[in-house]
Amino acid sequence: MTETITNWAGNITYTTKELHRPYSLDALRALVAGSEKVRVLGSGHSFNDLAEPGPEGVLLSVAGLPPVIDVDRTARTVRVSGGVRYAELARAVDAQGLALPNMASLPHISVAGSVATGTHGSGVGNGSLAAAVREVELVTADGSVVTVGRDEQRFGGAVTSLGALGVVTSLTLDLEPSFEVEQHVFTELPLDGLDSRRFETVMASAYSVSLFTDWREPGFRQVWLKRRTDQPLPEVPWAAPATEQMHPVPGMPAENCTRQFGTPGPWHQRLPHFRAEFTPSSGAELQSEYLLPRSYAVEALQAIDKIRNTVAPVLQTCEVRTVAADEQWLSPSYGRDTVALHFTWIEDTAAVVPVVRRLEEALDAFAPRPHWGKVFAVPARVLRGRYPRLADFRVLARELDPGRKFANAFVQDILGD
Ligand SMILES: Cc1cc2nc3c(=O)[nH]c(=O)nc-3n(C[C@H](O)[C@H](O)[C@H](O)COP(=O)(O)OP(=O)(O)OC[C@H]3O[C@@H](n4cnc5c(N)ncnc54)[C@H](O)[C@@H]3O)c2cc1C
Repeated sequence: MTETITNWAGNITYTTKELHRPYSLDALRALVAGSEKVRVLGSGHSFNDLAEPGPEGVLLSVAGLPPVIDVDRTARTVRVSGGVRYAELARAVDAQGLALPNMASLPHISVAGSVATGTHGSGVGNGSLAAAVREVELVTADGSVVTVGRDEQRFGGAVTSLGALGVVTSLTLDLEPSFEVEQHVFTELPLDGLDSRRFETVMASAYSVSLFTDWREPGFRQVWLKRRTDQPLPEVPWAAPATEQMHPVPGMPAENCTRQFGTPGPWHQRLPHFRAEFTPSSGAELQSEYLLPRSYAVEALQAIDKIRNTVAPVLQTCEVRTVAADEQWLSPSYGRDTVALHFTWIEDTAAVVPVVRRLEEALDAFAPRPHWGKVFAVPARVLRGRYPRLADFRVLARELDPGRKFANAFVQDILGD
């Protein structure tokens, strides 16, 4: 059957007209072994052509494989199929009295697709979602099933892999005992007076903290604190509590957002900003995000403030988060405690791209690593210099995919060999 296949936002239409959905592992293995070029589409929430298979390539989804969510309460782990989405995984894990350490703002994204791009939530002590992965199972180019575990040296390239090593059919993740979270929203944190010390205080004041601004003024319109109820109540002398439930994008319906006003709830209903049972928005947006060393956070925010008259007209909202350093070679938070500067733009690519370029110039001095799944213009040759373990990733890609079956133009550019 032919169809038009797009990503969630609709800004990317894949060249292929067919999305293959094998219903068994054997069918998947045969499809991979018999195809020249293969890319996998997760839940399609990326904003660029990372998943594009090319004109001759096969695009496939693992969402048709029998879903597995196998919780081991003693080991505190879960084995989950790659196509399962975080909302479903979180409900199953919570039902066993266990929890994932963190979640992204959106629970609708697939597990394999999320960790492939270094997707993250927030928290000075929280790594990206890939940091919870302890084992990955892949179908590689000749159809073999390969498992890579955390105790192996090559594990550093196996999780945040941009889909370049094979089809991820399942992952095993670390869990911890279930916990409750309260969400408190504050308003108006000025940029003036925000030095590095205060920035650290604000971002470390709860388990997960996000700052939001539309850059129409210098400062943050909203501060979202997600406090674990087993951790102390933060003192917040630096901002005023919100008086109504808020959406991070001004004018959008706040009922789509997870519960605020300090009402305690299970971790999976508070760590994401958006409720699993709602579509967070219509998809009328583009996104970009830049991850840079946290020590540069305030300087980087001041650099954006200088160009806010350029940024604001095409911006819906900007979110500032933190991510703890992780050990995945291609993770944008690899090896450095990170501040993540996220931009939700209007859906007009022609208007947004020049602003993205201007923003990248403003941030260039801080050597930002763009989110792999979002819109960016930093050339691949520059990015290669920002990943000190890229050569190790190349070796792993050569080992698992010697014929470059899984390397599309995007991946080939990044690998640069
Ligand atoms: C509304 C919205 C909110 C978002 N919030 C956040 C956020 O809070 N934090 C954040 O960091 N990002 C966020 N993102 C970005 C998003 O998390 C990433 O783009 C993520 O990669 C999407 O996962 P996906 O399953 O849709 O992957 P896709 O976009 O479908 O694919 C991403 C990559 O993973 C590969 N892939 C997918 N499945 C497999 C598989 N089974 N095997 C091998 N490779 C595979 C694809 O080939 C591709 O290279 C958000 C995006 C949207 C639209």
